[in-house]
Amino acid sequence: MGIQYKRILLKVSGEALSGPKGTGFDEATIASICAGIKAAHELGAQIGIVVGGGNFWRGRSSGKMDRMDADKIGMLATVMNALAVKDALRQQGVPAVVMTSSFMPQVAEVFTSDKAIAALESGKIVVFGGGTGNPIFSTDTASALRALEIGADAMFKATMVDGVYDKDPHKYSDAVRYDTLTFTRVLDERLAVMDSTAATLCRDNGLPIVVFDLGEPANIAKAVQGERVGTIVKE
Ligand code: UDP
Repeated sequence: MGIQYKRILLKVSGEALSGPKGTGFDEATIASICAGIKAAHELGAQIGIVVGGGNFWRGRSSGKMDRMDADKIGMLATVMNALAVKDALRQQGVPAVVMTSSFMPQVAEVFTSDKAIAALESGKIVVFGGGTGNPIFSTDTASALRALEIGADAMFKATMVDGVYDKDPHKYSDAVRYDTLTFTRVLDERLAVMDSTAATLCRDNGLPIVVFDLGEPANIAKAVQGERVGTIVKE
């Protein structure tokens, strides 16, 4: 089978990196996710990754703390995750770099689209840390933004569920999974794919999203080849 999506932006939530622990890092889980990423890379896909921060901190659930400070802590959490994912990829022999949205020269390179595209074209995986660099936004929005900036053919949203359902499949046994959906429907019916800022960005710029279960890391390579692994959202 050939490759359907040559350049992808993969969104990995922070929670996914914590595995069964539910918080912080779980090295075995990170290694298994990275093995799935490596398999897709070996097919020839160019891969950018945006990592979330929810395994450490989320600004929106920070209680009394000033939201701007809380979101800065959240963005720093995503930088920690980006470093961990880069390290795990390198341990498996996959060339990878971290680029951050804010200047942190001792930690990683600062993101520019030119540098990121050059790195992708040279065969490196680029892990984007720091979200958009702005409070209030989310790493879903950062994923849509980076996907557009690097000219990705699709955004892959790897989640804990195997696609988008009409209702929560963990609560309702008769929940139905969609094979394809439009962004307008996702927005109108407030389906739990991603926040509406991110969904609007994707819709307005014609960026398709593939939503699938990261519990099965082989899904990344399958999706790159165009195999149906979850739900595709497009216009
Ligand atoms: N965040 C932010 N701006 C961004 C991206 C993230 O302020 O552009 C902060 C925000 O506080 C968020 C936290 O970083 O709660 C972690 O990101 P997110 O909740 O998207 O992570 P995920 O749920 O995907 O692990």
